[in-house]
Amino acid sequence: MKTVLLFSFLLSLAASCGEKPDSLSSNDAGVSSEQPVQDGKEYFINNSGDTIYYVNKTTAEWRDALNSNEFHILREAGTEPAFSGDLLEEKRKGSFSCAACGLVLFESETKFKSGTGWPSFYTPADPTHVGEIEDTSYGMVRTEVVCNRCGGHLGHVFKDGPKPTGLRYCINAASLDFETESDQ
Ligand SMILES: [Zn+2]
Repeated sequence: MKTVLLFSFLLSLAASCGEKPDSLSSNDAGVSSEQPVQDGKEYFINNSGDTIYYVNKTTAEWRDALNSNEFHILREAGTEPAFSGDLLEEKRKGSFSCAACGLVLFESETKFKSGTGWPSFYTPADPTHVGEIEDTSYGMVRTEVVCNRCGGHLGHVFKDGPKPTGLRYCINAASLDFETESDQ
């Protein structure tokens, strides 16, 4: 119930990301509402077989953990201005993880230059790490993408991306942290 309320709140505040709104069929990443529990913590198993524990914090805890820009984008479904994100021109090899909880979301090999002004990827690092929610705000039908571990807003996914998927994950740089391959 708490999750439903959170998503309703995020949907009500979602702003534009990208220039070519399109609709996608709803497709959650296979994470059901009934989660297994281990050591008192809910978790899911990703496609690599890793146990991923959910991260649940109160609004006050997120305000402490994030800077004001990250909080606005990740927890209030904000959108950074186009061409403002520090990771837009990041071209090194490495991984992009959730700025709120650290879960790896995208790999540098799938990043491409979209010209929209936001970091763009054609597929998630692991499809179970990124969730999709239908977003009908601003008179458009779009698909919001969120971090599946902490529920943080990332951006939207559109169907005008490059091969091999034809998808364009339009992601706020403020929602991501980057780690170069040499640091891993
Ligand atoms: Zn997260």
